[in-house]
Amino acid sequence: MKALDELTFDNRFARLGDAFSTHVLPEPLDEPRLVVASPAAMALLDLDPAVAETPVFAELFGGRKLWAEAEPRAMVYSGHQFGGYTPQLGDGRGLLLGEVYNAAGEHWDLHLKGAGQTPYSRMGDGRAVLRSSIREFLASEALHALGIPSSRALCVIGSSTPVWREKQERGAMVLRLANSHIRFGHFEYFYYTKKPEQQAELAEHVLKLHYPECREQPEPYLAMFREIVERNAEMIAKWQAYGFCHGVMNTDNMSILGITFDFGPFAFLDDFDAHFICNHSDHDGRYSFSNQVPIGQWNLSALAQALTPFISVDALKETLGLYLPLYQAHYLDLMRRRLGLTTAEDDDQKLVERLLKLMQNSGVDYTLFFRRLGDEPAALAVTRLRDDFVDRAGFDAWAELYTARIARDGDDTEAQRRARMHAVNPLYILRNYLAQNAITAAESGDYSEVRRLHEVLSKPFEEQAGMEQYAQRPPDWGKHLEISCSS
Ligand code: AMP
Ligand code: MG
Repeated sequence: MKALDELTFDNRFARLGDAFSTHVLPEPLDEPRLVVASPAAMALLDLDPAVAETPVFAELFGGRKLWAEAEPRAMVYSGHQFGGYTPQLGDGRGLLLGEVYNAAGEHWDLHLKGAGQTPYSRMGDGRAVLRSSIREFLASEALHALGIPSSRALCVIGSSTPVWREKQERGAMVLRLANSHIRFGHFEYFYYTKKPEQQAELAEHVLKLHYPECREQPEPYLAMFREIVERNAEMIAKWQAYGFCHGVMNTDNMSILGITFDFGPFAFLDDFDAHFICNHSDHDGRYSFSNQVPIGQWNLSALAQALTPFISVDALKETLGLYLPLYQAHYLDLMRRRLGLTTAEDDDQKLVERLLKLMQNSGVDYTLFFRRLGDEPAALAVTRLRDDFVDRAGFDAWAELYTARIARDGDDTEAQRRARMHAVNPLYILRNYLAQNAITAAESGDYSEVRRLHEVLSKPFEEQAGMEQYAQRPPDWGKHLEISCSS
């Protein structure tokens, strides 16, 4: 266990130099205070969880203090936003403070979001408000606990610093952790600004540090791209299987590591709705729930374009062709497990699709349905669940297929099936209204709710005593919350 001043830095991205990032100091928050910290994320840095409560913790992650070995840098990148290319983006309100390595030899980027203006702030104030910082914190840690690859969050620091959005709010910072903060948009930036030397340096950096096993392959860059395709297919399969809607899948928000990244107006589905749009500025539904699958491929093809200096177009195309089948295989595998199946049959895909259509038509709660399906023997569970469906005959027909399928699946005991299903079907997810309750309390200075919610979501598959209120469908007010995109 380390104290805060014992972190070991090795700032590999900063060493790439000024073509890649700009030195900027954090702009401190006034009266910084700990809102919430993640002990699990602190463990990634070997930090003693008790240090979160010390004043120096809030000073460091509220931008008032800095380690001597930190080298805060704002990274430059670009990207396709809603399908159109924006030539220059970059860390407009976040700074890569430095890279820390832990006792296990893993490197973690410390990225402070809400740290003030940078050369890439454009018209923005460089700040993040408490509301969006809490949402990013909760989502990062909740996704990780669900087994969905994600950037992590160490803490949220609140303050008295006024920040103007639609109304006056308070500034906050979230300390984000990831093995890298390099995005698809980094490659696009050097490609479209026609800087082949830096582009090659970036590619070599990513290959060496993040995909070292690909260096053994005959075509290392192609192997790396293939790995990125595979990771994205798997990540998006998990989003779809668990009902996570990212909301802003611009290529500047896509990580080169295939982790969920840059949380904005994201949402988990309450009622199943394939057409759900969580981002209210997404008028055409480009990033609707079901569109996330083809958009994943669109984004990978934008990355592929930026990799044409290193890889032949034919090889890129062929590799891109792997995305959809890989996605489908991962998705079906997860959905089979969510249904309690251990074997594969040809008609399983149809069984899933039929169920989702029924859920869509009746607005069935996506998370609770699967949880309850595992609560009891299949035949009993479906008789209880049928009341949630408007089309009872349709559901009965599905239930008949399902119970027959379960019977064919294998001969483990009911208890085994239940344990297996509960291990993949969460009881607790980050519903928008739960986040909103925690935010409302935090905005009035009470951080107990955000801390409790974080704790509940850190064990989403485990039923926790006295936490029934976190495993309910949303109340009417919480069903269609408009999440502000200004964050
Ligand atoms: P996002 O929608 O959060 O992914 O941000 C898109 C771009 O806008 C990134 O370059 C951000 O750094 C920048 N940005 C977003 N909000 C702000 C802000 N309040 N101040 C400065 N830049 C911002
Ligand atoms: Mg972004």
